[in-house]
Amino acid sequence: MTDDAAPICLARPLPGPDDTRAGCAAARGVDGRPLHAAALKFFWGPMDCGKSTMALQMNYNHARQGRRGLVTTRIDRSLGPQVTTRIGLAHSAIEVTDGLDLRDLVRDAWAEGVRVDYLICDEASFYDLEHIEQMAELVDNYDVDVYAFGLATDFRSCLFPAARRLFELADSVARIQVEVLCWCGREGLLNARVVDGRVVREGEQVVIGDTANSAQVRYQVLCRRHYRAGDLGGR
Ligand SMILES: [Zn+2]
Repeated sequence: MTDDAAPICLARPLPGPDDTRAGCAAARGVDGRPLHAAALKFFWGPMDCGKSTMALQMNYNHARQGRRGLVTTRIDRSLGPQVTTRIGLAHSAIEVTDGLDLRDLVRDAWAEGVRVDYLICDEASFYDLEHIEQMAELVDNYDVDVYAFGLATDFRSCLFPAARRLFELADSVARIQVEVLCWCGREGLLNARVVDGRVVREGEQVVIGDTANSAQVRYQVLCRRHYRAGDLGGR
């Protein structure tokens, strides 16, 4: 065998009839769109499991590779247009209001010459159902990746409508693997709403509270056993 023998690359894709950049062609479906293109991914977990931290880490990782994205949120704990995390990270974000159309958000950015390769949607369980449909359209029609982060269930242990829609539509769904512990030491699963020191199971789906013990309305992550028993431990 001589050194000047041309290597044969078996992995090189065959050029298609319309492909002038032979060798760079992505595999395409019969509808002509890339087979492995953008994706809608939903990452969920109870409060305090690090969803916002992971959202900002993902934004950082993608930006580092030269991709450009937008960060959106709704009812962040700071109540401002930013994603904040319990471990101290913060990032400016676009507040998703009732009338906001996520597709317009991307199209307007593009019109201004701003590239948008992906969206990071924090607190996605608080979005409207229309917003979730818009996420799917951004993936399917605009090839924009959408990474959504949020709670699955509310204080009654029932799915948030937006979370349910994400479970139905997302290309992939992943439970965030950072464990949050109940006071008993078991893995925390459910978000209890605590009013005047008691677990409540009726009321508005979204009531802003805190996780501080002193707050009038607060939230506490409990294991299923203690959520069902309404047992907040001896604190
Ligand atoms: Zn427990």
